[in-house]
Amino acid sequence: MRVLVLNCGSQSVRLQVIETSPELAAANADQVLAKGSVERLGSAQTALRLDAPHRPPVRRACATADHRAALELAFALLAETGLQVSEIEAVGHRVVHGGERFVRSTRIDAEVEAEIEACAALAPLHNPPNLKGYRASRALLPHAPQVAVFDTAFHQTMPAAAYLYGLPWELYTEQRIRRYGFHGTAHRYLSFRYAQIQGRPEREFKLITCHLGNGCSVCAIEGGRSVDTSMGLTPLEGLVMGTRGGDLDPGVLLHLLATGVCRPEELPALLNQRSGLWGLSGLSNDMRDLLEAAAEGNARAETAIEVFCHRVRRYVGAYTALLNGADALIFSAGIGENAPAVRARICRKLDALGIRLDEEKNLACRGEEADLSGGGGTRVWVIPAHEELMIARETAACLLG
Ligand code: ADP
Repeated sequence: MRVLVLNCGSQSVRLQVIETSPELAAANADQVLAKGSVERLGSAQTALRLDAPHRPPVRRACATADHRAALELAFALLAETGLQVSEIEAVGHRVVHGGERFVRSTRIDAEVEAEIEACAALAPLHNPPNLKGYRASRALLPHAPQVAVFDTAFHQTMPAAAYLYGLPWELYTEQRIRRYGFHGTAHRYLSFRYAQIQGRPEREFKLITCHLGNGCSVCAIEGGRSVDTSMGLTPLEGLVMGTRGGDLDPGVLLHLLATGVCRPEELPALLNQRSGLWGLSGLSNDMRDLLEAAAEGNARAETAIEVFCHRVRRYVGAYTALLNGADALIFSAGIGENAPAVRARICRKLDALGIRLDEEKNLACRGEEADLSGGGGTRVWVIPAHEELMIARETAACLLG
């Protein structure tokens, strides 16, 4: 099945065209036919990129009005590479928040659309652009069924002990304030792929998966099911990230408000854009810059990296306890795949947990699947993130039953 995967943000659209089916997925033989992005959407400087195998890369800049205009442009470029949109058989949409309603990928109809809209209160920055992308693609590809693949769905297997906050009960029952978790498609892929590499069923494994990109989260997975994850009601909880600080004593916010250091309307920018690696280092939200600066003696960059790694270690320890021992610790996404120095700091002195890294294998591994285990009982692996592939597979599986 030829699936168009769409990941629509407020100012960007990322897309891939993937040939997949349950048989291709089982053989890990799905094919990415094209991948592209439209950035700075809605401006006079919209930038388009499209890459297809055996084709020269396409780079264009022009003006766009909205998501529909962006998709029209992207489809025109796809046609230039020989991919006709009439041949797209289904569209898979990344939808960030599915609340408690969506526990699996779901074909979108009017009722599902309304429910995704209702979940927007929980993800005001994400669900509305996801829906704009859906509406544009429905209008432009009326022949293709559209499927929503939720970031939250994989974590709906978490037990109440993991998803409830220690807050008044009514905040959960009346306001749905609870932990939902995100990056679910990415964590699910890591569980599926690890079992596939081992040639054994997912139900046999207990895994700790670390998705360390711009956004970061850890997941404890038992038998292919998420049992805990580090993000919560929103993607602000958990690890230190590029520009988000993760776990925080809520008293800090009360203090900032009470002392007038921050006004309530300043909090979203403080927590989403001015914290994390960026806020700590005062230099960059990019781990590459910080590793370079730290090597040149920049103390704040060094501290930012240490805080980042310390937090991951803390979660690895906590999840090893929750799982009563893990079969593997898996690193993924930009930092997890490409930063041996960060992986080494995270795994340092974890041998009591059975986690031991082979230094040479670790140094050699950048951006590829590799077993980095140095002889401990918990294997250490790198598996590159492939959310789009998982979205395409989920879309095909949803439609083919
Ligand atoms: P996103 O969450 O936006 O999908 P990615 O998974 O692409 O992000 O991760 C982006 C981050 O990965 C960058 O901000 C950078 O910190 C980090 N990164 C990428 N390459 C390297 C590298 N070679 N060394 C260290 N960090 C890297």
